[in-house]
Amino acid sequence: MKHLDVIPSPDVPAETSLENFRPATGLREACGVAAVSGAKEAANLVFLALYALQHRGQESAGVVSMDSGGRCHVKKAMGLVADAFDPEVLEGLKGRVAVGHTRYSTSGESHQRNAQPLVVDFRGSPLVVAHNGTLTNAATLRRSLARDGSIFQTEVDSETLVHLFARSRHLDEEGRVDDALTQVQGAFALVMAIGDTLYAARDARGFRPLVLGRLGEAAVVVSETCALDMIGAEFVREIEPGEVVRIRDGKVQSLRPLRPAPRSACLFELVYFSRPDSVVWGASVNTARRAFGKQLAKEHPVDADCVVAVPDSANSAALGYSEESGLPFELALIRNHYVGRTFIQPSQADRDFRVRVKYNPVGSLVEGRRLVVVDDSLVRGTTSRGLISLLRIAGAEEVHLRIASPPVKFPCYYGIDMPTREELIGSSRSVEEIADRLGADSLGYLTMEGMQDAVSDHGPFCTACWSGNYPAPLTDMDAEEADAMQLQLDELS
Ligand code: AMP
Repeated sequence: MKHLDVIPSPDVPAETSLENFRPATGLREACGVAAVSGAKEAANLVFLALYALQHRGQESAGVVSMDSGGRCHVKKAMGLVADAFDPEVLEGLKGRVAVGHTRYSTSGESHQRNAQPLVVDFRGSPLVVAHNGTLTNAATLRRSLARDGSIFQTEVDSETLVHLFARSRHLDEEGRVDDALTQVQGAFALVMAIGDTLYAARDARGFRPLVLGRLGEAAVVVSETCALDMIGAEFVREIEPGEVVRIRDGKVQSLRPLRPAPRSACLFELVYFSRPDSVVWGASVNTARRAFGKQLAKEHPVDADCVVAVPDSANSAALGYSEESGLPFELALIRNHYVGRTFIQPSQADRDFRVRVKYNPVGSLVEGRRLVVVDDSLVRGTTSRGLISLLRIAGAEEVHLRIASPPVKFPCYYGIDMPTREELIGSSRSVEEIADRLGADSLGYLTMEGMQDAVSDHGPFCTACWSGNYPAPLTDMDAEEADAMQLQLDELS
């Protein structure tokens, strides 16, 4: 029997067909979420918050608002926040509750049907979900739900939550939310609107950030504090790991349905993903990165003329390196700000090209000089390889690459887009081999101990992409993949 509780809203494109569906595990979501409850211009505020969260996702943007008559208003579009919305569109997004999302997924095709917030009708009321993170048992749950008749409209794992909510035996809304959230594994920092009630929740390990703010009478929930600053909201606190917060007309109530688990805050948020003007895990991201850079200089000093950052994400770490080493910091690489992050293009050829489009050296600062180039991380090595070649063409005498985090050896299954092990340049090569491949005169990575010591007050952290220690079960990983991963972990230990 088909399950008809969840009816796709009209904004789901009609071309959606079951044949196009790939399993939910194929999509990794690294996103920004924002929600406002109890403000006259809720959608406008969410739009502005998303603007500040643009770095968390550039593939699509969406805002959904709920008006007092129980109607929802939806605007979702591919591309950047600024391109998706104009005053006229925002004017149409009426109501005192709004939910927004910026999406960043590089595996799988870019399709509007995967754009969030997800919107469905649930027994006559709008149900809206915006999710950051990856559910590690979404495909397994999806298969079983589909067998029982659930019809999925998108490829995103967040839709699993919607079906779990709809099929719950609990009669009350809160019970349904708890029921859905207790069945999923992995990483979620999400906001959900059911009619004009807002729920914000984080998984029990607290992989991804989500914070609560206040703007007058209104309550605000956003991925990062920089979005609170953007709208002039005051930071109240983090949504705690395992906490579900219910908000009605700006009034906040805390619920604790999830079984506690050891905290596993993503350390890569501090290394790369979050904005330096945000406070994440109680740490200023800028201060954390500066400390990483200082530690890097202690661990890997080099005789050189100046320190150059790979802008913008390595700026703070490079300043830290410069401070500790006493070498001058030079703005020798200029970034074109109108180009998105290098991973946005799906094929490797496109990525190589984008490095050139994105960065250009300042000839007079580079020619005949010995450079320490600091980047926050090495993933595939595409950026560094391209940059080193650009710097050599510009006349650099020596290029010493310093990375303000350890070698990324394992994919992330909790919401940061990381390629397969084979594509990760650090997964199986020695530091010398990597330096050679990239064309660097020397290469030094920050050690795991050095990195963790620098932010020891703010953990415990998830370090899976460096260590292979995955704190939450990887239920969806198929048996073959899991065996291969285990073999590699055994080899390492
Ligand atoms: P790669 O060029 O593949 O080595 O990627 C490393 C570069 O991309 C660094 O400059 C980082 O700032 C940035 N980066 C690191 N991780 C990611 C990610 N998950 N998505 C997009 N960019 C990333």
